[in-house]
Amino acid sequence: MRGLAGKVAVVTGAAGGIGAATAHRLASEGAHVVAVDLDEERVRKVAESLPTEGLGVAADVSAEEGVDAYLRAAADRFGRVDLHHLNAGIPGSFAALPELTAAEFDRVMAVNVRGVFLGVRGAFRRYAAQGTAGNIVITGSIGSLRGSADLLAYQTSKHAVVGILKGAAMYGGPLGVRVNAVAPGIVPTDLFAATPDVTGGKDDMSVRASSTPLRRAGTGDDVAGVVAFLLSDDAAYMTGELVSVDGGASIV
Ligand code: NAD
Repeated sequence: MRGLAGKVAVVTGAAGGIGAATAHRLASEGAHVVAVDLDEERVRKVAESLPTEGLGVAADVSAEEGVDAYLRAAADRFGRVDLHHLNAGIPGSFAALPELTAAEFDRVMAVNVRGVFLGVRGAFRRYAAQGTAGNIVITGSIGSLRGSADLLAYQTSKHAVVGILKGAAMYGGPLGVRVNAVAPGIVPTDLFAATPDVTGGKDDMSVRASSTPLRRAGTGDDVAGVVAFLLSDDAAYMTGELVSVDGGASIV
């Protein structure tokens, strides 16, 4: 893909399924990846496994200090940041609407919405400080398009990032900064394994995946390929787009 070799890319949620796949894909295209996630050992392992020189940074994307820390660490090591995949996210608990607590709603919003806002704002501030333009991709979800009675906080958070996507794309366009998003469908990552109460677990996921037009679940690599494309110069005339990567699930 054009325009990725030699670039410096931040990937948040990089110790997870989709984030690790993106980190590997971008590195295989010649980018240097700054892998960001909560646990230091996990991000270090991801960074060390990459084919280009990478960096692992433990940071909480929902905190301003966390975003400042990973941007500073990236700039200290590589001198600049070009690309951002703002991907860290949590599913939240499965709860019928009357049982959904305000605290749980806030917890999901803090990571999935505030974290993306802070990441986008941080990216624009960094580009301004560097005097360069870069690209941003946000991980939305098929839940950015659909409602859910039992995962209301998660689906709401994934709708909210579309607002950030559109506003940031409008702000960034005249500056040469493109902002796009991917909307994965069913991808069997730790998010599924760790939260069977939320996702139905891998068995339920297989049943749901088999009813999509492509008759299978997605992989981290399926999503990573589209993220890399959107971050590359091959997508030079795309901005403000939410691209479904769901085997056709959203058209059914
Ligand atoms: P995952 O659980 O494997 O990865 C998510 C990663 O984000 C984890 O490593 C976690 O530690 C990290 N994270 C959580 N809170 C964080 C914080 N405050 N600061 C830094 N890192 C934090 O799940 P995944 O499936 O790879 O999810 C990646 C993204 O894809 C999420 O935004 C998720 O909502 C979205 N998504 C996933 C699916 C799917 O089917 N797996 C579908 C649609 C959207």
